[in-house]
Amino acid sequence: MDARIRAAREILGEQCVVLGHHYQRDEVIQFSDFQGDSWRLSELASQASGRYIIFCGVHFMAESADVLARPDQVVILPDLNAGCSMADMAEISQVEDAWEQFVRLGLTTGHGSGISPLTYMNSAAAIKAFVGERGGAVCTSSNARAAMEWAFARNEKIFFLPDQHLGRNTGYAMGIPLDEMVVWDPYQLQGGLSADSLRKASVILWKGHCSVHQRFLPEHVDRIRERHPGIHVIVHPECRWEVCQKADDTGSTDKLRRLVAEAPAGEKFAIGTEIHLVNRLAKEHPNKTVVTLNDSGCLCTTMYRISPQHLAWSLENLVEGTVVNQIKVRPAVKHWAKVALDRMLQIRG
Ligand code: SF4
Repeated sequence: MDARIRAAREILGEQCVVLGHHYQRDEVIQFSDFQGDSWRLSELASQASGRYIIFCGVHFMAESADVLARPDQVVILPDLNAGCSMADMAEISQVEDAWEQFVRLGLTTGHGSGISPLTYMNSAAAIKAFVGERGGAVCTSSNARAAMEWAFARNEKIFFLPDQHLGRNTGYAMGIPLDEMVVWDPYQLQGGLSADSLRKASVILWKGHCSVHQRFLPEHVDRIRERHPGIHVIVHPECRWEVCQKADDTGSTDKLRRLVAEAPAGEKFAIGTEIHLVNRLAKEHPNKTVVTLNDSGCLCTTMYRISPQHLAWSLENLVEGTVVNQIKVRPAVKHWAKVALDRMLQIRG
């Protein structure tokens, strides 16, 4: 597979750029021209010069790349089954239904006044378009705080989609008490919330989570500290609030990488994020101890679907002049999703 991928890349030359998310396995990421978190990759996708953008990540990332790409560029996801369980937890019809209820309760007039909608990057393009059209923005774990500050400068309430943990952790770090952040459950009548609690809330969190990061528990932090006295526990803000509170630091995948890279030799880290990134950091820093916070296997199974076989297949088809697995966002959705993504790129973390 390695030889076939190299051969196809050589023929395609600068026509194609391969982007790889930090959670990709080594066999795939070794072929990426650029690596990064969803923030960095979306920036790179918007600047890529190649005609073909091969996105080794998951579906919502490839959609964002298509929204930000030039009209002549083609975005390819090597396996269409590479989705994201968190993004799937917010369907556009459910989100529209919630918003209608906010309008009915007088919390917003419907178009960006009263409530600022924010969506995490890990959401479908239709959700990004939804927030863009209503004066909101997309955020990533790198700029979530700046995005919330930006949103609060416009309205006194935020509707945060789809990751309740990132929203809660960010809001709490900004000084918002937990009882001012309520959770909207799309499977309950009126989100399972009273009109009064919705009126009083500063942040309405969508009931979504990452199935990988939610597996880290507070007891894992206690256990690892017992086993490795003096270890630094650093976690992604998609982890539960209780875990983030116990950790020494939290941050995006880029920040977690930086914390390990900048630490002096001999430092010890337990990391609460996807296992491929943790294992890669351990290999890259043999003079430091890098272990996972939960050794029961926190693997993103959908990221893992991008295999060398799928990558070779997409590249070889391009060599033959055939585009497979193109990700193309509908023009109406694209317009407003781009508005929301452009706001994200302007809001610095
Ligand atoms: S790690 Fe979680 S949020 Fe990220 S792609 Fe996988 S399921 Fe989605």
